[in-house]
Amino acid sequence: MKISESSVDDTRPRVRMRPKTDARRIRFGYPWCYANEIVTDRRTKALTPGSLVILEDENRNPLGLAAVNPISKIFARLIDLDPAADVNQEWFAHRINKALSLRDQLFNEPYYRLVHAEADGLPGIVIDRFGDTLVIQPNAAWADQRIKMLTAAAVEVTGAECVVKNSSGRARNLEALDDVTTIVFGKLPPMPVKVPMNGAIYMADLMGGQKTGLYYDQRPNHRFVQDLANGARVLDVFSHVGGFGLAALAGGAESLICVDSSEPSLELAAQAAEAMGVKEIFNIRHGDAFSVLSTLNDERELFDLVVCDPPAFAPARQSLDAGLRAYERIARLSATLVAENGILVLCSCSHAADLEKFRGASLRGIGRAGRKPVLIHTSFAGPDHPLLPQLAESGYLKALFFRL
Ligand code: SAH
Repeated sequence: MKISESSVDDTRPRVRMRPKTDARRIRFGYPWCYANEIVTDRRTKALTPGSLVILEDENRNPLGLAAVNPISKIFARLIDLDPAADVNQEWFAHRINKALSLRDQLFNEPYYRLVHAEADGLPGIVIDRFGDTLVIQPNAAWADQRIKMLTAAAVEVTGAECVVKNSSGRARNLEALDDVTTIVFGKLPPMPVKVPMNGAIYMADLMGGQKTGLYYDQRPNHRFVQDLANGARVLDVFSHVGGFGLAALAGGAESLICVDSSEPSLELAAQAAEAMGVKEIFNIRHGDAFSVLSTLNDERELFDLVVCDPPAFAPARQSLDAGLRAYERIARLSATLVAENGILVLCSCSHAADLEKFRGASLRGIGRAGRKPVLIHTSFAGPDHPLLPQLAESGYLKALFFRL
């Protein structure tokens, strides 16, 4: 059965941009209209979160169809240039299909981010694919309300056998949405699922794990580390389920220590090492990364390859200074553990710390450790995380590869 939005007519509410606001930006592809850019009155305030409206410029020319949330700073998200578009299952299927065709071009196996929100024409919607299981994050009200239609469309396009709705996204809070993760289609396969990537095997827990179970965004950076890893002693700090470390082992690393404060994540990394047949050279240190790094320094340990991929220390502008100091500390504590001519990889997934600021903090830390770096490579998220060039905010991930 197809699920359809009640059919559209011209009674769709209209929301107009204020005089002197930049509607051209939206015409050129910027997908959001902020609360302070629209004419507010009783009618706009009364709009239900997630409802669809026709967004107009100051002269009442339609800009397109938008999904609104009057309680969010992002008042309207443009979802179709056609103000009369019928947002039904076919509409979702068309967008998901378009997203799928890019991933089909990029990957041989069905393990990737299938939909990356705005850049795939589905604002606020993230879908990660793990073979026959999809994990959907509806991070905006309009998507949350249409989860049935979205799920039906995703199943239609991919043939998935199970769909998990993951509600852990931080943005859901801003849209006043709950945090309950549920299975919305089919039956969950046995957990964890085995995910092949870069010749390694990862174990992903799609129900209890962080994010949607695995960090696909680091795939090309895992690969870059792998290509440098032959014969190396590797330290993977903030390892989660072993993203960098297991890739390094698949690339011929001599030994690996994974460091994380999450015991379940380290347990999944250990299971994966066993599945890869490299259990003997796999080790863990469970605990706070700052103190584990200090201990390793006290023990005068040295590694040929050290990776630090912490959680966002500066997720928002208010936390920028404290975040940059934390990045600097991580760089200082890890640089001293790198053997002469070894590699140090420093990552940041903070929106607020841009590349220049993050590189600056990293260089200060390395300098304070008394080491001389050269930058051999700078990288970002993989191509299954496309960017809308107009949305600088969506370019969060940075990875710096130094040789010391
Ligand atoms: N490197 C991983 C992703 C890391 S996500 C990959 O490529 O797949 C960040 C990780 O940092 C999470 O697993 C989280 O549990 C861990 N973490 C957060 N704070 C920490 C801390 N203070 N000490 C150690 N680990 C921490």
